[in-house]
Amino acid sequence: MTEDHEHHHDGHGHHPEAPSELEARVLALESLLIEKGLLTSQDVDQVISVYEHDIGPMIGARVVAHAWVDPAYRSRLLDDASAAVRELGLTYPTSTQLVVVADRPEVHNVIVCTLCSCYPWAMLGLPPTWYKSAPYRSRMVSEPRVVLEEFGLRLPTSTAVNVWDSSSDLRYMVLPERPEGTEGWSEEQLASIVTRDCMIGVARPQIPAGKAVG
Ligand code: FE
Repeated sequence: MTEDHEHHHDGHGHHPEAPSELEARVLALESLLIEKGLLTSQDVDQVISVYEHDIGPMIGARVVAHAWVDPAYRSRLLDDASAAVRELGLTYPTSTQLVVVADRPEVHNVIVCTLCSCYPWAMLGLPPTWYKSAPYRSRMVSEPRVVLEEFGLRLPTSTAVNVWDSSSDLRYMVLPERPEGTEGWSEEQLASIVTRDCMIGVARPQIPAGKAVG
């Protein structure tokens, strides 16, 4: 998965339905590999499906939930995220470095790739379309509070916003704060409220109505 190593700029006069230069190159490569018998289109669909459904944000959510219940693990995660992910028996590729940034009451973290679409896909699966959009990439840097409000996340003015710019060899992921009212929850229950958007930093974990204990 090296899809985001090309730092290209899109949206300049493309017909919305026409593939971008990068998409056209990917399609050309895929056709060639299939034609040469090196790959079938089922192989391609299967890999995409793994990232969309099997991985999704599940790995990231498991890591966050474990960090919430185990303070020593949390420290190791913030110190060396890739090693901490592997410690749970999960895989993290050696090709890129992962850095986990923790929210605190006075600091909220959010991730972006200003150049293209670098994303911690090994933790969160495929990025949402908006993450790759030019407005998100530029406005999250120039006016993060406004963009977060558009996502429905209103932060107190006393909370600082740290924006982390990912690159092809350094990916960030947000460790949100554990919400109040989740005391006594199992790791599985905790992981269920850690969404992809929480680990990008455009949302915070929410307790579904009726799920609060006590
Ligand atoms: Fe990028």
